[in-house]
Amino acid sequence: MKRKSFLKLLGLSPFLINMNTLSDIYINSKSLSNTERMPVLFLGHGSPMNAIEENQFVQGFRNIAKTLPKPNTILCISAHWLTKGTKVTAMEMPRTIHDFSGFPKALYEVQYPAKGNPKLAKEIKEILNPVLVELDEKWGLDHGAWSVIKHLYPEADVPVIQMSIDYSKSTQYHYELAKSLFLLRSKGVLIIGSGNIIHNLSLVDFDNFNLDNYGYDWAIEAREILNNYLLNGNYQELIKYETLSKAVRLAIPTPDHYIPLIYCLGLIQPNENLTLFNDKLVAGSLSMTSVKIE
Ligand code: ZN
Repeated sequence: MKRKSFLKLLGLSPFLINMNTLSDIYINSKSLSNTERMPVLFLGHGSPMNAIEENQFVQGFRNIAKTLPKPNTILCISAHWLTKGTKVTAMEMPRTIHDFSGFPKALYEVQYPAKGNPKLAKEIKEILNPVLVELDEKWGLDHGAWSVIKHLYPEADVPVIQMSIDYSKSTQYHYELAKSLFLLRSKGVLIIGSGNIIHNLSLVDFDNFNLDNYGYDWAIEAREILNNYLLNGNYQELIKYETLSKAVRLAIPTPDHYIPLIYCLGLIQPNENLTLFNDKLVAGSLSMTSVKIE
């Protein structure tokens, strides 16, 4: 989609806006030094307990971390920060948010003391203009971010900022918005989408939470359909997931955990490879399928 069409999608007229030109965007991002293009990750985060448990999925996160260049900052789009409008965390020290209930005390004691990067937050606000981005001082790191990033960088030595998901917008909107973030990949920023591709909490089989690769028939079918579209580059099908089969609609009853994947798809460049890892079903109605783009 061309910029003009995207502005139309936003409900804005390209003729009434003082638009950033490409050179403006370049100047805006000058304070970040150029690096090799960073990969993009989508991480299936699953249960918050993955933060403190030892299992094949956290091993998968650690393994993928070994393949990454060290980022100067992580930008995380988490399924657990849904807002009206778009916000970016802009505090020096984001707090660790324990945004869940009914879990063991040990999980509430986890702190992930990564710094923020207020300067980058301001740059993202400029880069995404004319989309209005609010610099946020209240949020922090929700478990969609810290429960997985702690396995990538256990020393918390990489600054982390989060960008919220404007829940009133379509998947097509999020796909187009993600494209504007592309230049950050060449500035040492590791962009991570954190959610779950298959995520139907109302149908979770809690009695069989620890069975390996256990999914209902519809979840198996949905995973095959969605993985094939991912691996074959049929992103428009993935954006229009609501028009796919009944199995896919059961897999994605609400888009909150799916939209972070859409951000990752918006960041793919021609000739890049997309690989899957942690590609397993859990408790019947969840998948841990994760994606690396490079
Ligand atoms: Zn979640």
